[in-house]
Amino acid sequence: MDLCLRGGRVIDPRRGFDAEADLLLKDGVVGLVGAGIAEGVGSDVRIVDVRGLWVMPGLIDLHTHLREPGQEYKEDIASGTRAAAAGGFTAVCAMPNTTPPNDSRAVTELIVNRAREAGTVRVYPVGAITKGLAGETLAEMGELKEAGCVAVSDDGKPVMNAELMRRAMEYARTFGLTIVQHCEDLTLSAGGAMNEGAVATRAGIRAQPSSAESAMVARDIELCALTGARYHVAHVSSADSVRLIREAKRRGLPVSCEVTPHHLTLTDDACARYDTHAKCNPPLRGAADVEAQRAALADGTIDAVATDHAPHSPVEKEVEFEQAAFGMIGLETAVPLVLALVRAGTLSPADFVARLSAGPARVFGLPGGSLADGAPADVTVVDPEAAWTCDGRALRSRSRNTPFSGRALRGRVSLTVVGGSIVYSGEQPA
Ligand SMILES: [Zn+2]
Repeated sequence: MDLCLRGGRVIDPRRGFDAEADLLLKDGVVGLVGAGIAEGVGSDVRIVDVRGLWVMPGLIDLHTHLREPGQEYKEDIASGTRAAAAGGFTAVCAMPNTTPPNDSRAVTELIVNRAREAGTVRVYPVGAITKGLAGETLAEMGELKEAGCVAVSDDGKPVMNAELMRRAMEYARTFGLTIVQHCEDLTLSAGGAMNEGAVATRAGIRAQPSSAESAMVARDIELCALTGARYHVAHVSSADSVRLIREAKRRGLPVSCEVTPHHLTLTDDACARYDTHAKCNPPLRGAADVEAQRAALADGTIDAVATDHAPHSPVEKEVEFEQAAFGMIGLETAVPLVLALVRAGTLSPADFVARLSAGPARVFGLPGGSLADGAPADVTVVDPEAAWTCDGRALRSRSRNTPFSGRALRGRVSLTVVGGSIVYSGEQPA
């Protein structure tokens, strides 16, 4: 059934549109946007009143760990896409560090098929750069692209060997694939469980310096200049990294990056009491780094907010801090955490929408990210004022590992629409 969203504040930064309007979704694509459309539609169109709410192009997450195949006790494609829909995401990019890793056509096809069966949000697989994520031989990127991969990454691990990274970039360029790097010089991070600084010293936790990230960003930018490949920094976290990326963009290099909601929100103080849910990689940084990420997100140096949704079970998290796995879930808390930056005056509402939809679409060349005539009918409706308290147990993800459980949040997803069908409906719109 076709859908008309009536009376919301429609925000579409790609077209510079921000006004109260009706939005008609017809035959799976965006039809009309404007005033008074709902009055003219036939009885075959379902009208949903969204007055007081924000209506935007569907949110796209460049960095989601769905854990299937192989670690379904943490998450699977069905549960992960349900969490995505509840968080307002109409598309997610599935990272390849599954078991086995997504380094072949067979695994990519399995993910594509399982996502189709789950039937909630769009899933775009990200393939491996190297076979088995082992950092030794390149994966068959042509085959991965043909099977449906939209980018390549060894995420979870960096490609340490510079010569191999050069060849990966050359290879990826011929297939038009973006290289996504988890930037961490392992000889510098050396097993550090949190950010190097006063908090780690006081807590007595083995730490890694932020230069473990920025040193690899610097190296890769030089390789990007050498090869001309599209290069994307995953989960950027340090002030030095964003400075390097800003300079690279000024040089005209095809460099992009993403930041997570948690790196925009929390500092390494969250690790002071050994909360393993605050343990992630890259680690939470100091206040100056967080400020630098916020400024870079506002000025467009950072192209996208990506969740790095990383589900883990209590087996990996209810252990000593240094033994715990890295990562936290993030799909269902991204909207309120980024909205906090709008309330703080750091981002405009249009920036908020752009960094979560048009920006990520552009980075990987994905459909969506706009409400232009004929665009996919992927739409997210947000109540920017709704107050709620995050309860880890009430989230749709199979895992509970969030440091935000118990936190009072503002802003909530009301409706998520994919291809014209409602895949999530929260508190019933008025
Ligand atoms: Zn990573």
